[in-house]
Amino acid sequence: MQKRLLVLGSTGSIGTQTLDLVASSQGELALAGIAARASWELVRDQVLAHGVPLVAMTDPEAAEALAPHLPQGTALFSGPDALLELVQAADFDICIHGVVGAAGLAASVAVLERSKTLALANKESLVLAGAELMQLAREKGTEIVPVDSEHSAIFQCLRGERLDRVRKVWLTASGGPFRTTPLAEMRNASPEQALAHPTWEMGKRISIGSATLLNKALEVIELHHLFGLDVDRIGVVVHPQSIVHSMVEFVDGSVIAQLGPPDMRGPIHFAIHHPDRAPAKLTGFDIGRFSKLTFEEPDFERFPTLGLGFRCVELGEDAGAVLNAADEVAVEAFLDGRLPFHGLYEVHAAVLAQRPRSFGSVDALLAADAKARELAHATIQAGAPYNMMSDSHSSNALPSKATPGTSQ
Ligand code: MG
Repeated sequence: MQKRLLVLGSTGSIGTQTLDLVASSQGELALAGIAARASWELVRDQVLAHGVPLVAMTDPEAAEALAPHLPQGTALFSGPDALLELVQAADFDICIHGVVGAAGLAASVAVLERSKTLALANKESLVLAGAELMQLAREKGTEIVPVDSEHSAIFQCLRGERLDRVRKVWLTASGGPFRTTPLAEMRNASPEQALAHPTWEMGKRISIGSATLLNKALEVIELHHLFGLDVDRIGVVVHPQSIVHSMVEFVDGSVIAQLGPPDMRGPIHFAIHHPDRAPAKLTGFDIGRFSKLTFEEPDFERFPTLGLGFRCVELGEDAGAVLNAADEVAVEAFLDGRLPFHGLYEVHAAVLAQRPRSFGSVDALLAADAKARELAHATIQAGAPYNMMSDSHSSNALPSKATPGTSQ
């Protein structure tokens, strides 16, 4: 039976790879609608190639530019509410949500409200309001299927297993472009250096997040919400080849891992077809690429933001929302040359230490997000001392317990 997909963020990395899968599906997959922010030429090409009935562009100027190029009968939603209008109007089976940032949360809520399956690459939704979204999915009798490669791996390893039989989940991290870079060199790394990810091709924000390990910190929070695991059952291990996408260690000492070349089409394909494991023409075991798999302990001193992910799980409340918002503002400042690389962590830690403790509903968490952005702008404008990284252990925002999960 044909599956109808709603693709949010169709021009981004997840979106374009989803459309690749649609193109090669021989009619098994169809597009019920697509949404993007401003890349209207690419949206035009996607509509012409696939025949998409509904389109949303959140940037009104881009929507205006796109309108005359759309075939007759194609509906266009434009402006800040376009994403939600699209989710409400579309006739779809599963939503592939690849929007980047906190801006994706409202659409996640809207998809679940409609009792549709949410294939979630927008990890910020869970980082901001994980408890609320998981609860909503249960109430509406639907499911959040992770598209983040690590969480997809864990989801796959856990199928048919009992969560209370999990000793520890091992989240793998590539280590990013600065895995072996000495701290002194990292401190003033340029955006170009930070964007050069060794194994994955991704958008800018997530690439910077791989350089600071903020992305892994967010993934720790995401993992906590998806599977209800606390920090003592979450470990992070650096695996530079990005072949082992994550592992689950069970109470009997058995470890199950999910492997594959770094290619997001794998987790996207899995999420679309779950609970089936449908055939795909993706590469499997490749002795050349799989011949050397190595693992290292993460360095919490050079990557102190990673510790903040564990700290946020311990703090709960609005901590995840606040860390994420601080990072969205800080990354923009870094890319604009207004913040040095080591300033990213200082903004993370400073804003987290002042978090408003606004939680209890999605709206309260969005208020925390807004407040954290204000605090982050103020911190950057004040030109914080930018010298905390060399003295990271004195920061009160670092994990209260010994850095968890690096070894057993
Ligand atoms: Mg990931």
